[in-house]
Amino acid sequence: MAASQRETLCKKTLSPVPVAELMEQARKAAELQTAEYVSGERAALTAEIKSLLQQEDAVLVAHYYTSPELQQLAEETGGHVADSLEMARFGSEHPAGTLVVAGVRFMGETAKILNPEKRILMPDAEATCSLDLECPVDRFTEFCDAHPDHTVVVYANTSAAVKARADWVVTSGIALPIVRYLAEKGEKILWAPDRHLGSYVQGATGVEMLIWPGSCVVHELFKADGIRELKKKYPDAAILVHPESPADIVAMADVVGSTTALIGAGSTLDATEFIVATEPGIFYKMQQAEPDKTFLEAPTGGAGGSCESCLRCPWMAMNGLRNLAAALRGGGDEILVDEDLRKRALIPLQRMMDFARGPHARRNS
Ligand code: 13P
Ligand code: SF4
Repeated sequence: MAASQRETLCKKTLSPVPVAELMEQARKAAELQTAEYVSGERAALTAEIKSLLQQEDAVLVAHYYTSPELQQLAEETGGHVADSLEMARFGSEHPAGTLVVAGVRFMGETAKILNPEKRILMPDAEATCSLDLECPVDRFTEFCDAHPDHTVVVYANTSAAVKARADWVVTSGIALPIVRYLAEKGEKILWAPDRHLGSYVQGATGVEMLIWPGSCVVHELFKADGIRELKKKYPDAAILVHPESPADIVAMADVVGSTTALIGAGSTLDATEFIVATEPGIFYKMQQAEPDKTFLEAPTGGAGGSCESCLRCPWMAMNGLRNLAAALRGGGDEILVDEDLRKRALIPLQRMMDFARGPHARRNS
């Protein structure tokens, strides 16, 4: 969707959130992190971060969409690279007193909600997500209040305040079993904020849901025509799609799933070539698991369309070595959540974490 259209959509149906403007600001902030290193800078920053992690009793938890250098650093320092569900689980189970969350703000807030006793640092807490921006708590509360007979299920990509209004939190890795479980109990479901993930869940489970109209600025860029063209060049390639993508892209997929599921499919499928419709940060782990296979970015334009770097999530790209080092030196962002809000947001979040460990998660997946 063009930037101007997105602003209009937000003003008309969601809230006056200038998503396009905020993306531009994020891109500018990200440039400071991706600017070329002066000689020896990268090695010096890496060494400093390693030493500060030890000194501060801290562990680095990075999302698959962060840069390869951050993912590598998390791996080298005993931290973890994961999807949003697994980031939350790892952070809760790790004994470190400080969690450094490289990702977007809802991931840092989730860590704080689950671990109030821990210090949660982020390289840049302004790193947000279009799904979070497009679901302001006041409008969302009105929507929920208008449907009091519905169970409120929200995606993890939301603010602590929106989670506090929900009955359940889900990630893409556990949405299907949770919705199936609720439907078996006869519950009516209100879903927010990702309309594409919502319609995918609806289609896969057969459960009708009331769906909030948010979307991911990255995943909705994929174009079916472009993928068809690429498939002509690589006829044996398997198509892997994150379910935040629009329905016509999901319909083309050999595998639809969370970031972890897509990385797994890169290994378990017989194919040696893959067209991947998700944020390209994921290629680091895909290629690490399968160095001899070929992973291709799904195109974002149809015939003649092109977009050079728009698949990079502008907010994930705000995480870099420079602001990570600054955070550990004490100059970065600590994530704090009001205690009353935290306790309310913890209820639906803990439900998800407990569900993920229980028998229904496997039975209904
Ligand atoms: P995962 O839960 O699959 O990590 O997805 C999070 C996300 O933000 C995808 O855009
Ligand atoms: Fe949000 Fe999309 Fe970025 Fe994921 S890729 S953090 S859903 S904007």
